[in-house]
Amino acid sequence: MTETPAQYLHHHGLRKTLGRELVLTTFLDQSRALSHGELNTLLGDQLNRASLYRVLQSFEESGIVHRVPDDEVSVKYALCSGACSSEQHHDNHVHFKCNHCGETQCLPEVKLPKVKTPDSLKVESAELLLRGYCRHCAA
Ligand SMILES: [Zn+2]
Ligand SMILES: [Zn+2]
Ligand SMILES: [Zn+2]
Repeated sequence: MTETPAQYLHHHGLRKTLGRELVLTTFLDQSRALSHGELNTLLGDQLNRASLYRVLQSFEESGIVHRVPDDEVSVKYALCSGACSSEQHHDNHVHFKCNHCGETQCLPEVKLPKVKTPDSLKVESAELLLRGYCRHCAA
């Protein structure tokens, strides 16, 4: 991303607030999917839970982050690639979760495979979570 967090927010129609800038900067620094709990730990006292929740909600509605499938209870979020807007998300890619460190990452270059379903079903979305070992843990 060549834009500053403030410009990025502006392009997605969001007013710049301290909380939004903090959360966006954290996503950029970490470059992986983050859950509420992880963000809460990373941000510490800088942002309370309720504000964090509202920031994530506005980010998801504005096409800045997308939900990432996870096998845990908590939802994870990851930055969108840039093609997303408040109209529609285009994050039809595969995600990878490491069995060892638990980190989840987007694989934007890996598109979801086409799945043949019965004609009676209208599929609206699909998720695929691959499990294995990331390059740090595979050694
Ligand atoms: Zn998206
Ligand atoms: Zn790992
Ligand atoms: Zn993703």
